[in-house]
Amino acid sequence: MKKVVKFGGSSLASAAQFEKVGKIIRSDEGRRYVIPSAPGKRNSGDKKVTDMLYACYALAEAGKNFEAQLADIKARYDEIITGLKLDFSLSEDFKEIEKRFKDKAGKEYAASRGEFLNGKIMAQYLGYTFVDPATVVCFTKNGDFDAEKTNEKMSAKLAKTEKAVIPGFFGAKPDGSIKTFSRGGSDITGSIVARAVKADVYENWTDVSGFMIADPRIINKPQSIEIITYTELRELAYMGASVLHEDSIFPVRKEGIPINIRNTNKPEDEGTWIVESTARKSKYTITGIAGKKGFCCVNISKDMMNSEIGFVRKVLQAFEDHDISIEHVPSGIDTMTVFVHEDDFISKEQAVVSEIHRLAKPDMLEIESDLGLIAVVGRGMKSTRGTAGRIFSALAHANVNVRMIDQGSSELNIIIGVENRDFEKAISAIYDIFVETQL
Ligand code: ASP
Repeated sequence: MKKVVKFGGSSLASAAQFEKVGKIIRSDEGRRYVIPSAPGKRNSGDKKVTDMLYACYALAEAGKNFEAQLADIKARYDEIITGLKLDFSLSEDFKEIEKRFKDKAGKEYAASRGEFLNGKIMAQYLGYTFVDPATVVCFTKNGDFDAEKTNEKMSAKLAKTEKAVIPGFFGAKPDGSIKTFSRGGSDITGSIVARAVKADVYENWTDVSGFMIADPRIINKPQSIEIITYTELRELAYMGASVLHEDSIFPVRKEGIPINIRNTNKPEDEGTWIVESTARKSKYTITGIAGKKGFCCVNISKDMMNSEIGFVRKVLQAFEDHDISIEHVPSGIDTMTVFVHEDDFISKEQAVVSEIHRLAKPDMLEIESDLGLIAVVGRGMKSTRGTAGRIFSALAHANVNVRMIDQGSSELNIIIGVENRDFEKAISAIYDIFVETQL
């Protein structure tokens, strides 16, 4: 077994957390490649080291004193080193960082040090080889991630390394300058390493036992998802469910490697498996529910729209010209509706409206706001009768006014539009009908 294990910031926030991680790694010989994040929050009032680094570098860039802030960051690492009783020091590294900050080495260099230093401690603690991602995670000179070059370099390097720590979140451009992924990007590094070593599994250790069927801020202690496909996850993540960085799916997907989300604080839990495809049914017909508020829609009608070739294209053109991305376009015989994000749309709404009039000459146009979209996702829906019926009767019983229904052609999801004020009520009603009534 070859396992790649990534640990998030909360799993590495203190010496006590490091010890839990050490135990997890040592309990399985297969856990050979370790990807650490930077230390996260130790408690809810605490700061993430990455945020401290950004703030500290902002001072340096502005030519202000940053030494005290850098000393606070060093103290976070020293606390871990002392707590683990390691005979090891990062003093030389901090001297170098101070110098590079003074030389204005850049915000991405600054942020990357969070993972870099944590990786050094981790390698020392485990007795694994430290691999600097700047030598194996490649970006182009324009700053785009170069997946193939990275895969080549990473596989070559790790083929010669039995056990390694590869810090997450960053790599380098051809000129050697440091480039980071977007926030939460250590998940991507883990996936890249898993692909490169052709791992049997990519374990992603965090502080929850996998994905929940619904948002725990809306549903009290929701059930967790045992197994989910990449496509289902994509639908749920798009609609607001978050645990894993979205881009981290692509590298492992290329190799058909499963991801297992695990909880560092409850290693006995199975967590959630994310796989390409599975014969295992989800327990409740649906796999998950997610949603987002803050949408508005533009309702357009025109007599005989149905037979007017090019009408839809002209309407959508108006949105494209104003750089507005479209969420859903349900349509009727002589009507169509375009759902967009309120934040993107409001400042441009009148310009879009006049362009629709000019291009498509509709009879009537009306804008509605304060809408929420809810996605009910499940690979099992295709082969189960009555799913839509159950959803809509539950919503009717809960007195939710359904404003839009859209079933994706994959039959993997049903999207429901509701008013913002009915959003939580609608999610609870759907959760109850599929999960609570089955328990
Ligand atoms: N430390 C980085 C962040 O806070 C990357 C990560 O944790 O994945 O975004």
